[in-house]
Amino acid sequence: MGDIEHNKYSTERLRMVNYDLKGRGIADVRVLDVMSELPREMFVEQQYKSRAYSDGPLPIQCNQTISQPYIVALMTENLNITPECEILEIGTGCGYQTAVLAKLAKKVYTIERFKELSNAAKKALGQLNITNVEFYTDDGSCGWFENRTFQRVMVTAALPKVPDSLINQLAEDGVMVAPVGSEGTQRLMKYHKLEGKMIETFICDVRFVKVVGQHGFKE
Ligand code: SAH
Repeated sequence: MGDIEHNKYSTERLRMVNYDLKGRGIADVRVLDVMSELPREMFVEQQYKSRAYSDGPLPIQCNQTISQPYIVALMTENLNITPECEILEIGTGCGYQTAVLAKLAKKVYTIERFKELSNAAKKALGQLNITNVEFYTDDGSCGWFENRTFQRVMVTAALPKVPDSLINQLAEDGVMVAPVGSEGTQRLMKYHKLEGKMIETFICDVRFVKVVGQHGFKE
């Protein structure tokens, strides 16, 4: 990448962090630092690179989307990640959110239903030398294939309701963030698991692509 192009992206990235993130109340310095560094342009297709730092979602392969940067920041902030956390992510997509999580946590386990997207995300993270991620292609609504728990669960596609498969894989005192509702609009929710119960907090209204799967929506 040439210097001029590199500078252009850095300027746009700084604008995004200052106006779209800080300007709307994202205050977690670790989240802001990571998003100030990560080259979002690497996660979008050539024809959208000039809009890599625009204030909205963008199309990616397989008819899916890369989320609006503000929503990525808001969800990440609400997940309350510590460096010891192991995170389960449902909906790898292009891998941008995965990369943000990986920079903040010990390890990320991410599930995507499209092999093509999973492979593209794996490649992008490889180029960024992010190595603490395990990629898996499957129906993420059924959870991780091994019988285990995670301190954090991040769902980046819409669910009709949070399935038991994911509740059971959230560790005690763990946090889950997920958009829950209909195919058209959802409520972004934060869940804190305390003594086996899911204590929920509403974050904001959102519109995500749907989870297609056993505990999601039909194709
Ligand atoms: N996290 C991405 C946004 C992903 S969009 C970002 O950084 O912007 C949601 C993704 O969820 C899509 O790639 C879609 O294919 C995937 N998805 C939908 N249903 C799924 C399922 N049952 N299991 C795993 N991934 C699923």
